[in-house]
Amino acid sequence: MNFENQHPKDGEIGPNAIVVYVGKEKAVEGDSNKEVEVESHDEGDEYTEPRPIVEPWQMETPPPKIIMDLVKTKLGVDISYSTALRGKKQVVTDLKGSPDESYKILRCYLHMLEKVNHALGASVEGFKVMRKVITMDATFLKNGYKGVLMSKTVVGDSSKIVFMTNRNTSLIKAIANVYPLAHHGFCIWHLSQNVKCYASNVNKDVVAWRFMECSRFYTVAEFNIAYASFTTRYPFAAKYLEESTQKERWARCVFPGDIYNLDTSNCVQSMNNVFKDAGRYSLILMLDAKLKKFSEWFNEHRKDAVSGSVANKLVPLVENYLHDLWATAAKLKVTELNGFKIEYNVIDSDGKSYLVKLRLRSCSCRFFDIQKYPCVHALVSFITFQKY
Ligand SMILES: [Zn+2]
Repeated sequence: MNFENQHPKDGEIGPNAIVVYVGKEKAVEGDSNKEVEVESHDEGDEYTEPRPIVEPWQMETPPPKIIMDLVKTKLGVDISYSTALRGKKQVVTDLKGSPDESYKILRCYLHMLEKVNHALGASVEGFKVMRKVITMDATFLKNGYKGVLMSKTVVGDSSKIVFMTNRNTSLIKAIANVYPLAHHGFCIWHLSQNVKCYASNVNKDVVAWRFMECSRFYTVAEFNIAYASFTTRYPFAAKYLEESTQKERWARCVFPGDIYNLDTSNCVQSMNNVFKDAGRYSLILMLDAKLKKFSEWFNEHRKDAVSGSVANKLVPLVENYLHDLWATAAKLKVTELNGFKIEYNVIDSDGKSYLVKLRLRSCSCRFFDIQKYPCVHALVSFITFQKY
């Protein structure tokens, strides 16, 4: 039999395919399509616990070199590495679905998802009260297309939305096309790893750290001083920054949208770990696997969510922060500037003076403006406002 010249038709297991389903007891040899026992059990074997059910897409196929050995052992025929690899890829497609088919039915899938999937209702509702910063990276599609899939089925375009990415070119284009009004920031950790490569004769990690420090200043004045010092000390790193990106993409103080304290895409790494296996599925199976996980999470935390008091407007992180800050705030000197506009002047412990505009939710330190919850100056102004 000539194994080299037989090509399987689309959607069929090729005649030269050897399929070994790890986790299932049957193996199929492509040439005869008959089922062969991988593990034999003598009659009268003791009862063993049934194996957990393994979904087809969770099964693994052996590497091409092992497939070559299997063909040699079972059929006595030598096949090339490329034939073994082609057979393996065909089997993977049969098990996990083909990328082409997935993209063809994507629109129908999304339409039906909108119509019937109530599992996502909680996340859609929840998104209304969340910070509108969507963190993405470009490592999540590992199927044949390796591209970026971006759809705005649920989240409409708006200038209130911010995307945080690892500066992947495809993501930059996709976001600009699908969400032209949204703002787009770059992960400062990823950027710092590039920046540090342009500094020589210095500790590169210190350069990365100094760059990240610069990007996190709240006021333009503080940023300018720090960035001037960075430029003097690491001119090539600064030159790279000037030539490859704009400050508005990475410096918190001049970012045009509401970015809060989110400046890295590291949280995506945790999600990528959770969906490590799903990333290898074809698109629709991958979406299914992700939806299943999200439903599980929402179901798990549903009771916690409804058990909280509706009177509590703050998330625990902010509530604890304000609680700890209260004692420090209460000691600061406050002067009312405008009772109608609710404006105060606050002298901080370092002797500097700050202007707080409570009605506008603003402070000249700009923490309140960017983080959207009170700084120590705004807190003491609020305490004073409550008293009088
Ligand atoms: Zn302040």
